[in-house]
Amino acid sequence: MNVKTPVSVAEVTPEEFRTAGHDLIDWIADRRLSVEQRPVRPDVEPGDIAAGLPSHPPDAKVQADAVLRDLEQLVAPGITEVQHPMHFGWFPSNASLSSILGDMASSGLSSLGISWESSPALTEVEEVVVEWLRSLTGLSADWSGVIQDTASTACLVALIAARERATEHSQAGDGLRGFGLPLHVYTTDEAHSSVRKAALLAGFAANDIRVVGVDPSSREMLPDRLAAQIADDLDAGGVPTALVASLGSTGVTAFDPLPAIAEIVKPHGVWIHVDAAMAGSAMLLPEFRHLFDGVESADSLSWNPHKWMGTILDTSLLYLKDPEHLIRVMSTNPSYLRSTSGGEATQYRDWGIPLGRRFRALKLWYQLRIDGPEQIRTRLRRDLANAAWFAQQIEQRPGWDVVAPVRLQTVCTRHTPPGIDGDDEAISQHNLDWVRRLNRSGEAFLSPSMLDGKWIARVSVGVEATERVHLERLLVLMDRYAG
Ligand SMILES: *Cc1c(COP(=O)(O)O)cnc(C)c1O
Repeated sequence: MNVKTPVSVAEVTPEEFRTAGHDLIDWIADRRLSVEQRPVRPDVEPGDIAAGLPSHPPDAKVQADAVLRDLEQLVAPGITEVQHPMHFGWFPSNASLSSILGDMASSGLSSLGISWESSPALTEVEEVVVEWLRSLTGLSADWSGVIQDTASTACLVALIAARERATEHSQAGDGLRGFGLPLHVYTTDEAHSSVRKAALLAGFAANDIRVVGVDPSSREMLPDRLAAQIADDLDAGGVPTALVASLGSTGVTAFDPLPAIAEIVKPHGVWIHVDAAMAGSAMLLPEFRHLFDGVESADSLSWNPHKWMGTILDTSLLYLKDPEHLIRVMSTNPSYLRSTSGGEATQYRDWGIPLGRRFRALKLWYQLRIDGPEQIRTRLRRDLANAAWFAQQIEQRPGWDVVAPVRLQTVCTRHTPPGIDGDDEAISQHNLDWVRRLNRSGEAFLSPSMLDGKWIARVSVGVEATERVHLERLLVLMDRYAG
């Protein structure tokens, strides 16, 4: 009989991977070293990057070095360099190199997180690192944590849990149709857009979402408005179900007054979800924990190490007081997912939406071990000091104002040129215009933002590479582009 030699179907061999991998790491390290030499924002229009790529699928194999060349020439020029020290847009989206090592380790281990048994270490390292972070952020031992992809998902998961608590697990029967009463969610218009999206996706009706008034200067939820709204809703036969408190809102870093809010909603069994996506990193600093007073009264809390703390996306923490309730809501237990180990293992698939999960915990494990909590704290304190200094400089400059309290590392500013003083519309347009001109230059990047319907500039300090000199340079640029 003629037995054929099997044809190898291996795609990249481990030896080819080793060579290509070393080249890729060198390239990544070189890019970090040279980040400041590139524009912050690429000079591209929508469609430019896609137009540079072939529209037909590859029809022949190429070597990895050809792909790396195209990465350099066709793809990388289309990146907005959020690791650039002159990037002050949105929020710091830091990606510490230590966490990138962890991300590579996660890919390299290539494990499957669908149950404890499919990768015991994936589950247990996650349990350990979320516990480390609980303790580093001063949260009590009453919390249990899980890693979610983003704060948006964390909020969705929390609101689904809230819905099921208020309706006594209506999903198991006739759902919201059977429950029949309006379910209300309370938040403010300072809350992140993901909050409303999560409420809608969790089945709350748009008309049942209550946007509670805020203090006009601090932008924090007004407790008496909340109390009045809840009283009205109860009178009308509604069920106050969930409250999403922003601790560090996106626009101006407002902190809703959680102790007062909790006192109002707790008697009604309202689920409190704390969205501290951006500001949560500040819980690492004992001197800033007072901003988070009242968190212990919440049912769930999420924050993003993938923002200021610097764990590469996607690493969002969700802490819960009663994970058993969530597990009951999220659990699917078909026979093939049952553990054969017999023990009481955590099944993180029941703590969120996806079945298959990556080994994200390695990103935190690497960062917390290599950089260490003290180094991270030192960097956060540097950023806070830089933001305070920057705000002071703005205040002293003719024509410039700081237009919202600087609670952490975000400074909201507005320029009023001579001649149009008093013309709010013209001032608004002027601020949008100079921010756009500055951003187009590639020399720095800021987010234009709306405050009371008028354009302002938001300077979010906190990129790992940003030092005082970069803020000094930004002041010069702001004068140039607004002048
Ligand atoms: C960034 C942010 C979010 C959304 O975070 P994702 O992880 O991108 O979903 C939600 N809330 C606040 C306050 C934020 O700053």
